[in-house]
Amino acid sequence: MATSNATPEDAPGEPDTARPVGVDATSAAIAAIIDPLIDNARQMSAIHAERARLLAELHRLGEQPAIIAGLRGDPVETGANDPNTHAHGPAWDDVELAERTLATEVAGALRLHSTTARMMIFNAAHLVEKLPLFHQALAQGRISWAHVLRMQDVTTGAPADVLPALEAAVLPKAEKLTATQFGRVAARELDRLHPVSLQERADVGATLRRVVLQPDVDGMAWLNAYLKADEAQAGYDRLIRIAKSLNDADTADQPADWTTDGGEGGGEVVLRTMDQRRADAFRDLLLDGECAGGLGRGIRGTVHVTVPVLTLMGKSFEPGMLEGYGPIDPETARRLAGTAPRWDRILTHPETGCMLSVGRDSYTPPADMKRYTEIRDQTCQGIGCNRTATKSEIDHTIPWNKGGPTAVGNLVHLCKACHRLKHQSSFSTRQSPTGALSWTSPSGKTYTREPANPIGPPTPSVAAAHPAESVRAARDEAPPF
Ligand SMILES: [Zn+2]
Repeated sequence: MATSNATPEDAPGEPDTARPVGVDATSAAIAAIIDPLIDNARQMSAIHAERARLLAELHRLGEQPAIIAGLRGDPVETGANDPNTHAHGPAWDDVELAERTLATEVAGALRLHSTTARMMIFNAAHLVEKLPLFHQALAQGRISWAHVLRMQDVTTGAPADVLPALEAAVLPKAEKLTATQFGRVAARELDRLHPVSLQERADVGATLRRVVLQPDVDGMAWLNAYLKADEAQAGYDRLIRIAKSLNDADTADQPADWTTDGGEGGGEVVLRTMDQRRADAFRDLLLDGECAGGLGRGIRGTVHVTVPVLTLMGKSFEPGMLEGYGPIDPETARRLAGTAPRWDRILTHPETGCMLSVGRDSYTPPADMKRYTEIRDQTCQGIGCNRTATKSEIDHTIPWNKGGPTAVGNLVHLCKACHRLKHQSSFSTRQSPTGALSWTSPSGKTYTREPANPIGPPTPSVAAAHPAESVRAARDEAPPF
């Protein structure tokens, strides 16, 4: 920084030792922090490398026939011979079963969503097996975890036979450049080495188009735009409804999530997944508004909100619960409930007449019992899972075919994937009267999932306006968002 003061260099007569002493002291003070910081970064890299090694080891375990055999669920509980449980879908093959079970084991241990854990295991195996030079450099602290993530982004889906040459070419760059700079260099180098043209790769990339809704904090969410959570959710729900309406001849989702769509020429048949259709609806609404074909006209998104009665009456600041999201501010909760065409009281006491058990009379729970468990659970009760209860299935914790009753204390929401995991793997579950679900993993660890609203069974002493009593409202959101 320029100042009017002479520097020690410009000041004749100053002792030569004055500057070196000050510089040394400053240098030493900063180096005392920077040197350990560099050392710390090296250690963190080494720790990341070790975690990748462990996860890759787990991945290898999941390929061993003896381990896979140990991961299979109890043959009775899988329900293979029971007509009431065939809805879990066809059994996963060995690879799928092992990957999902081990991912859930990691998800429980590290408090992650099982999809995140599965991705971590996949990436770790990719790093250790396909990018050994990068794994070694990470273990030695020569590159950071951020560099490895860039390399994984660049190489995911790249042909395995170009990876050794790519690694050798770009590793020296990773040791010198920032992760972002390195990512650009690596992408350029891969493009040079790639046997498939960029055009063909772009065509494949386009098939992966999709819309993602991501909850955030403070009542907000990302629909790749930062929006109020209820608006983001209603917008996403509208995209789902539009996507479903895109093909009149469509008979809902085909088993593989594919559907037919008449092409431009009329004769050609175009196949699109639900992900692709949601993305197309998003694109068309964004680029063209309501298109000539009337895309989205009259279709509205729906959100579900649970509001404590006293909040609704303006006598409490207790937050409302937006399904699939969590607490939202009382003002928004009141606004949503105020515009709802239909309310369901949560059945928290006997006067409401909620049936809490039908014992062994019926496998399928009656509607009010379903709503009770929906409001109690809010989401799938799988380890680390956030899928909404309304998009999940109701599972008998003690299986129906083993004498389990149809009662709120034995029913819990599980999404299709978690439901299948429970039945087909050696994970087991136990349920408490409040709805808490304890999962015991193949390694013997137990993880308990508490329900969002542990309302429990009713007691006769609960007053009608008890704060635990709530209303659940579904508001149809008027387009556009
Ligand atoms: Zn789930």
